[in-house]
Amino acid sequence: MHNKEVKKETSLIHKGYVSKNHHDSLTIPLYQTSTFAFSSAEEGERRFAGEESGNIYSRLGNPTVSLLEERMMELESGKGALAFGSGMAAVSAVLLHVIKSGDHIMCSRGIYGCTFGLLEMFEEKFNISHSFHAMETEEEIEAAIRPNTACLYIETPINPTMEIVDLSLVIKIAKKHGIKVIVDNTFSSPFLQNPLEMGADYVLHSATKYINGHGDVIAGLLVGNDADDMMKLRMTVQKDVGGIISPFDAWLLIRGLKTLHVRMDRHTQNAGTVLSYLKNEPFVENIYYPFDESHPQYHIAKKQMKAGGGLISFTIRGGKEAAQLFLNSLSLIKIAVSLGDAETLIQHPATMTHSVIPEMEREKMGITHSLLRVSVGLEHPEDLINDLKQAFIKVQDQMPTTNVN
Ligand SMILES: *Cc1c(COP(=O)(O)O)cnc(C)c1O
Repeated sequence: MHNKEVKKETSLIHKGYVSKNHHDSLTIPLYQTSTFAFSSAEEGERRFAGEESGNIYSRLGNPTVSLLEERMMELESGKGALAFGSGMAAVSAVLLHVIKSGDHIMCSRGIYGCTFGLLEMFEEKFNISHSFHAMETEEEIEAAIRPNTACLYIETPINPTMEIVDLSLVIKIAKKHGIKVIVDNTFSSPFLQNPLEMGADYVLHSATKYINGHGDVIAGLLVGNDADDMMKLRMTVQKDVGGIISPFDAWLLIRGLKTLHVRMDRHTQNAGTVLSYLKNEPFVENIYYPFDESHPQYHIAKKQMKAGGGLISFTIRGGKEAAQLFLNSLSLIKIAVSLGDAETLIQHPATMTHSVIPEMEREKMGITHSLLRVSVGLEHPEDLINDLKQAFIKVQDQMPTTNVN
């Protein structure tokens, strides 16, 4: 048996699993079952009464899912973790848990498109308001807090503009007011940033992205800093709204987690190479990457993230026409939303991930028609650069009037 002192990289491979309890299987079996058979009526009664631990029904718990939750809790240094059928199921579950009708949600300047859609629905149906803030100074944050503010909902780096929110500043102020802090940590992955260690109350991930890492699962994970509170969430919102993960998807995520640290290192390394290339490309106007020294919040990024990660956003000269022509000229790099996969993916946020956000709001968030977001994958970086290069040449050839000097 390994002791408690092992590093996270080791825990992700070994924690919580004893092969002799599973016919000596090296990896955890996939418990693809909806329900569990009780050995007697009394046993069933005791389990329902909570007097005896044990499985009941897979919406309430499943051994394969539990191992994923245990490893995720370790990785984010939490006290409880829950797996969901999508990132949005995790987002909606934590929000339903912390808010009630009449409350206000204070958000970072940019949030994921569907989270925005959910907040609009909350406003319309349940009188739950929301507002967006740069959250750059103490004064500004203090002034934005309302008597009915129930939680701060933060994404950092912000999708897709890569702006950084200073987590320790925001958390300090929220704590003073007794307001919960929820962080969507999808972009960093649990390997590059751990908001709970900085005092946040909840951290969530679209596990579809870096955690799975292989582009074949949609899933979400939520980790909290209070075991009783997370148990309550499990037995209320998760059980009764029901956005659970399937055992098979949990099994795939357990496999993905085992290589997360190795993949994040390579994503970051490849992103560094692609970044250097883009910085010298005349068709590129602005580049947004947290660990680029020209990033306005470079020092905050350095303080709270272990590395810059695999996502780069940039603006291309020539607006929407050039952006679309550029995407259509790529061959190895795939035009796709999502991120964190082995394959390098590129997308146009204004017409894709963020198209549901009204144009005015979108422009305020900095999501113009010139903006492109690349999720740098695990291919050899020279091949990626060659593909980008030939696509820029095609744009140059077809839009010769775009001044690149
Ligand atoms: C993808 C994503 C989500 C939503 O996750 P799904 O797994 O697609 O439901 C939420 N937040 C961020 C930052 C994302 O990138």
